[in-house]
Amino acid sequence: MNRIAIAIHGGAGTISRTQMAAEGSKYAQKLHHIVQTAYKLLAEGKTALEAVTIAVQLLENCPLFNAGKGAVLNNKRKAEMDAALMCGKSLKAGAVCGVNNIKNPILLAQKVMEKSPHLMLAGRGAFEFAQKHGIECVDDTYFLTEIRLKQWKKAQQTGSIELDHQDDDFLANSLNLEYLEQEKRNEKFGTVGAVAVDNQGNVAAATSTGGMTNKHQGRIGDSPIIGVGTYANNKTCAISCTGVGEIFMRHVIAYDVSCLMAYKGMGLHEASQHVIMEKLPSKGHPDCGGLIAVDAQGNVAFPYNSTGMYRAWQQEGNDAQIAIFKEVIKV
Ligand code: ASP
Repeated sequence: MNRIAIAIHGGAGTISRTQMAAEGSKYAQKLHHIVQTAYKLLAEGKTALEAVTIAVQLLENCPLFNAGKGAVLNNKRKAEMDAALMCGKSLKAGAVCGVNNIKNPILLAQKVMEKSPHLMLAGRGAFEFAQKHGIECVDDTYFLTEIRLKQWKKAQQTGSIELDHQDDDFLANSLNLEYLEQEKRNEKFGTVGAVAVDNQGNVAAATSTGGMTNKHQGRIGDSPIIGVGTYANNKTCAISCTGVGEIFMRHVIAYDVSCLMAYKGMGLHEASQHVIMEKLPSKGHPDCGGLIAVDAQGNVAFPYNSTGMYRAWQQEGNDAQIAIFKEVIKV
């Protein structure tokens, strides 16, 4: 029997400590509940692939995070989402990108992996595939929440394209009390992801996102790209990334960590720390995001070079742990 473990994230970015002091417990409680739910499945003998899929589905259904229900809006005011999952045993993977009106993009990615001869489907074709395979589709209004519309309007006015969490400092420093009051009722941050190892020593990874506020219609990020935002291989590790997709794509982040383990014999911590804390800063990206990783021995790693990263994990024999900044949060 192998040591089971799961880790989840709700995105990385310039998360404000001021806001988190007031609001952090809601995120912590949600992450705690989801990591425990997924861990329980692993403990009951479910596969890593099943556990990461359910963890990401639950994160997609939570409006606190930038995926599924909480997905940010593109420049046409539409939620346009990317998702992927990968099995470290078979190296099978499924991905969808630029999809609209899909309640749970991770379930569509799973269906692509199971039922399609292809690995990745985009846009309209992915939507038709979803309809054919009974994946739940929803109206645009499902995603048009008050906070996403406010963030979108602000980004349109300034002409900016923003990571979800880049808005946090704006929120914390804003003197617009009405806005802040609404924020307090509607906190929503972060791309989501999960990595796990099951009792057979198989690893899996899953990632889902709305991308960046006010992104150009048709922009695809790193999350659905195998080897960049999502990767799993029993011989090395399972990884889910979060941060500025364009940078992660240029540096092929997830596969880079796996390669350091495979070709240089590095351990999970050393390899993932090297890529996020040394390589990316050395290329001029000292503050662009992070990743969660697990290996077949049940080790977990969470390097990030941004201010914070929403994350939770549970390893066999230990309680679930939650953190946003460096310190672990008591729930
Ligand atoms: N990596 C995501 C993207 O670029 C965004 C995020 O992680 O928050 O689409």
